[in-house]
Amino acid sequence: CGIVGYVGLGPTPDGKKFDHDAYDVIIEGLRRLEYRGYDSAGIAVIGDGEIEYRKKAGKLVNLENEVEASPLSTSQIGIGHTRWATHGGPTDGNAHPHVVDGGKLAVVHNGIIENFAELRAELLEEGFEFRSETDTEVSGALIASIYNKLDSKNLTEAVRLASRRLEGAFTILAMHVDHPDRVVATRRNSPLVIGLGENENFLGSDVSGFIDYTKSAVEMGQDQLVTITATDYSIIDFDGKPAEGKPYTIEWDAAA
Ligand code: GLU
Repeated sequence: CGIVGYVGLGPTPDGKKFDHDAYDVIIEGLRRLEYRGYDSAGIAVIGDGEIEYRKKAGKLVNLENEVEASPLSTSQIGIGHTRWATHGGPTDGNAHPHVVDGGKLAVVHNGIIENFAELRAELLEEGFEFRSETDTEVSGALIASIYNKLDSKNLTEAVRLASRRLEGAFTILAMHVDHPDRVVATRRNSPLVIGLGENENFLGSDVSGFIDYTKSAVEMGQDQLVTITATDYSIIDFDGKPAEGKPYTIEWDAAA
């Protein structure tokens, strides 16, 4: 199971296209992460102010065929996932990303949310509807519920508060239509590395998720969140205190 996140700068004022298209970056990252094992794969991007996503059970080629038949918009932001099913069978519907709250928020998740049943009951009462059998969709709905109640409409804060309520092991990446310039990621007892490029930044389960694009990485701790934009990253802990990442250079020949 693997996770990839990407944020680039978008079109330059002279109308030059994106240096990289989010779909290309993410599909390559997922391919490099294939060795971790998976049963389904999916990708979400934001194009024209809307979250667009494709997800398919089976090998990555199924997802690629789906995107070829029904292309995604060119985009500077996206999240991708290879799934190893724990809650709900390996179907297209249970594959990630899970897009919740009327298409406003997308999440991908590796790990297990132990208290998902209790949270699901709470969120059903609030009026959320669930389309999958996964624990992941519940974490997405929880983030959306908290976000919608926040005056600040701060996505990082919503993910932070949600993280404090989630039990288990997780790496979750979240993307919201109101914030098309950032991906917020949170982790507890689950892998996540940051990759730094020039006017583009990356997230991966490990460095192979972005090794084709940069050798500059940042290690972060458990029970921490990171928010990446094209030009910046910032790490905080679950109490909201700023945390330092550990920058390092990846010593690895991508051609190997
Ligand atoms: N528990 C989640 C699911 O079953 C994520 C599994 C994974 O780590 O890929 O959908």
